[in-house]
Amino acid sequence: MAKPGKLYSVLFNKCPRCGVGDFFITKSAYNLRNFDKMNKQCPHCGERLVPEPGFYQGALYMSYAFYVAFMVIYFLIFVNFFEQYLDYFLISIIPVLIILTPYFYRLARRSWLALFITPAEEPQP
Ligand SMILES: [Zn+2]
Repeated sequence: MAKPGKLYSVLFNKCPRCGVGDFFITKSAYNLRNFDKMNKQCPHCGERLVPEPGFYQGALYMSYAFYVAFMVIYFLIFVNFFEQYLDYFLISIIPVLIILTPYFYRLARRSWLALFITPAEEPQP
């Protein structure tokens, strides 16, 4: 099996060290009661997923970057393909961003931690 990389762990809710254990307790970002509940340690390799108190404040910047990137892409799609409906961009962007908030929240935390942890050389048995 190929070594799981950081991108894999960020996209598929996996520990950035081993790529096997789950990062968040629930698989779905839209389980609204538990979407933000994280494992304190990787259930597979024991890597600490909360390195220190306040660590995930830095994820706010990742989240901001994801929102801005999404809005730019969304705007470019409207400009290029739906120019006559450009008013709908303003109407639709707010609900779309609200709907994507749990997804970006989780994506930002996983990518923030992945910046600081190097993947293990071999997948853990
Ligand atoms: Zn792990």
